[in-house]
Amino acid sequence: MFLCPVCGKPLDDGEKTRACPSGHCFDRSAQGGYVNLLRTNRRGSADPGDSPEMCRARTRFLENGYYEALRDAVSDTAAQFPARYILDAGCGEGYYTAAIARALRESGSSAKILGVDLSKAALRHAGKRCPDAEFAVASLFELPLPDHSADVITHLFAPMCAPEFRRVLVDGGALLTVKPGAEHLWGLKEALYDEPYPNDEEETVYDGFHWMGRVAVDDEITIRSREDLQALYQMTPYAWRTPKEAAGRLLARDTLTTKISFLIDLYLAV
Ligand SMILES: [Zn+2]
Repeated sequence: MFLCPVCGKPLDDGEKTRACPSGHCFDRSAQGGYVNLLRTNRRGSADPGDSPEMCRARTRFLENGYYEALRDAVSDTAAQFPARYILDAGCGEGYYTAAIARALRESGSSAKILGVDLSKAALRHAGKRCPDAEFAVASLFELPLPDHSADVITHLFAPMCAPEFRRVLVDGGALLTVKPGAEHLWGLKEALYDEPYPNDEEETVYDGFHWMGRVAVDDEITIRSREDLQALYQMTPYAWRTPKEAAGRLLARDTLTTKISFLIDLYLAV
């Protein structure tokens, strides 16, 4: 399914390497979990994407079940669409990818799942967590996939590349994208800021897509340890822009109860 990033021809299914008919060759990871299709001159840094520390923190947080409500809603929604190929764009450690794979199996679908992410560290986790999916290190802005080859794209908390997603989707294909609802992490924001602002809930318009509707996911979670709180904090944009003192106050806590709220927006490729 994946294409050679140099010449665009299909890659074979080799055990240790993937090669195209022109002889370009790409190594699979030692455990076989992913193939690295990122071109050296496009990397920007030696090891782009989320760092191993970030991946470990996120894995810890997600595996403790705090975002289960979102995981279940995304996987149930994605599995409703008839599909031969589903792409999880920006799949990270494969937490949602694995749930989508499970939902598809339970619904009797034989759809193939592909995951793309910029981070090798993330895909090392993903390959182990979801052995029946195919993963590639690549940029979402330059997906190693043919035109009109995916029936569904899921997209959670990764950069939005609507033109590239449209290129890869079949006509009538579905894009599921997740964004935070107005009061997502309200308890955490209250702990950080004197006057927290709600997130904007307006749907975004993308060329080549028709907005079909949305699924709202709301829950309340209690973070049970300082380590989990630290992990959550690192996953948020606030980690970059909060004054040290406020961050220190938050991270000194052992527990935090907060609302979580997500919007799954559904788009039809037209
Ligand atoms: Zn090639």
